Amino acid sequence: MWPELTEHELERYKRQIQMAGFGEESQRRLKGASALVTRLGGLGGPAALYLAMAGIGKLFIAHGGTCTPSNLNRMLLMRDDAVGRPRIPTLEIVTSTDYATEENVGEWVSQVDLVCTTTPDFGERLVLNRECVRQRKPLVHSGMNEWECQLTVIVPGQTPCLECLVPEPPEWWDPYGFGVIGPVCGMLGCLTALEAIKVLTGCAEPLAGTILSIDLEEMSMSKCRPNRRSDCGACGHL
Ligand SMILES: [Zn+2]
Repeated sequence: MWPELTEHELERYKRQIQMAGFGEESQRRLKGASALVTRLGGLGGPAALYLAMAGIGKLFIAHGGTCTPSNLNRMLLMRDDAVGRPRIPTLEIVTSTDYATEENVGEWVSQVDLVCTTTPDFGERLVLNRECVRQRKPLVHSGMNEWECQLTVIVPGQTPCLECLVPEPPEWWDPYGFGVIGPVCGMLGCLTALEAIKVLTGCAEPLAGTILSIDLEEMSMSKCRPNRRSDCGACGHL
């Protein structure tokens, strides 16, 4: 059912295959799996890179616009020669230079098993959330602001969706106005990839329905489990 691993892949992924509960089956599942990462910035860059290095079979990465000098304190993939270099395992990469919109997300989400929303734009997150609910695809939601991070996994019909938590883009939200330093989004990007790997392989419990909040100034973490909203415009009918 899941693709076989080559001798090279068995050697390449040996150290994660030997992890308790992971094994060859999780690696084969990952090889047969696909994910959409919207925005390849400070958060989506490490998320996509770690998914690729862990051996995911197909990555759909989308990012509009062009690189600016103010991106370079955190966007570790923002070099012309980064994607496709030998250190990235063999995988199918689909790219788009568009942002996620109501017009394109239907086709994008249909091509993958899971979505990582790593965009700073809350409106775009809500569009992706609605499409994931419509297509019953899991969504890894991660976001940060200065020293603070939040991470959760949305499983449509089982957990609160993003719209249950935030019905519309908050008034205070300014997609490009918040302070950000590379190690904060780098760490959260890695955790985003880890949650995606848990969902795609069935290995270990993802943060489904649980919001993990991390304060990297105080170095503290907390978790909460919010409820679904029965009147949610996105998932209330499920
Ligand atoms: Zn909902």
